[in-house]
Amino acid sequence: MTMDPQLYKSKELVSGLADQIRQVSSGMSTVKIMHVCGTHEHEIVRYGIRQLLPANVHIVAGPGCPVCICPVEDIDRAITLSHAPNTTVLTFGDMIRVPATKTSLEAARRDGGSVKMVYSPFDAVTMARENPSQTFVFFSVGFETTAAGVAALIQRGVPENLYFLIANRYLPPVMKLLMEVHDDSLQGFLLPGHAATITGIHAYDFMIPEFNLPCTVTGFEPVDLLAGILELLLLIRNKDAKIINAFPRAVQEYGNTRALAILDKVFVRKPGIWRGIDIVDDTAYTLRPEYDHVDARKHLDGNPPYPPRARHPACQCHRVILGEIIPTECKLFGNVCTPNSPYGPCMVSVDGTCQTWFTYGSQEDNDFER
Ligand code: SF4
Repeated sequence: MTMDPQLYKSKELVSGLADQIRQVSSGMSTVKIMHVCGTHEHEIVRYGIRQLLPANVHIVAGPGCPVCICPVEDIDRAITLSHAPNTTVLTFGDMIRVPATKTSLEAARRDGGSVKMVYSPFDAVTMARENPSQTFVFFSVGFETTAAGVAALIQRGVPENLYFLIANRYLPPVMKLLMEVHDDSLQGFLLPGHAATITGIHAYDFMIPEFNLPCTVTGFEPVDLLAGILELLLLIRNKDAKIINAFPRAVQEYGNTRALAILDKVFVRKPGIWRGIDIVDDTAYTLRPEYDHVDARKHLDGNPPYPPRARHPACQCHRVILGEIIPTECKLFGNVCTPNSPYGPCMVSVDGTCQTWFTYGSQEDNDFER
């Protein structure tokens, strides 16, 4: 049976869930829960979900924007490749404006580099087929969902003139770092519904034995978000550390097993840089040796002639990404740093917390100590 999509925005359901959340949290002390998804932050802010929550329930935005955590080293490499003879770098729109060490892909294009925006890696294949005498590099950024699409494409075979600069990241292990940064003050996680369509819920099983922390896989409509928050609060209140799938219409317990098999065939996961933050074990999707022939790092000279600098000295993106501060606590927010003139990646991407707060208004919550 197909449900009316408007149901997930229903005012009656939203207010009923908000009432239940108030009841469940009424006897609880301050609850700090984190999400790790740029789309969650975008929709939480867009629909005013924080304003529906009681004062003791706080939702902290974590590192869910793949553009924001893309290593500056990789953007520098893409910029260098865009200036190589007969070579065009293809990537998603958000990536093009992200500031790197000296410039951005957008500025590189103004300076004569060849950079084009694509909507999907399939566009890259089409362009390479239509222009066989030219070299193309697909600069691939994103979490599990994007990585799965790229892996399927590579496994199927791509034109000889198309290479991949892979900067994709696997999300779950970064939650260990977040627990460290927040000194165990987090009481639960809302898990990203779209990434879980690939991984299933068991990719997060480690959260139970290692941290005894409950998690709910959560969707993106207002009803999904509030239902995920309600389930999580119930688990926290009942001291019941387990992982619940609160987005069953999209997420299967074991995920997309076919996509997982292809990911495993094409990539091996290694320690990877998260921009401005750290190297996190087991997070960097890296092409297996069998796929060396499409690896831009192996075949094309993209080493920039300068060392990387992850951020402008005043930029606080790394702390926003970790949920240590809110965007308005960065001195550059909204005055010198705006979507038209971004100083950091969080102001560029539609999934970046600073961009979301700039677009929809501040979510300041002064009573809350992060
Ligand atoms: Fe970075 Fe700009 Fe956000 Fe400050 S306001 S953290 S500089 S993106």
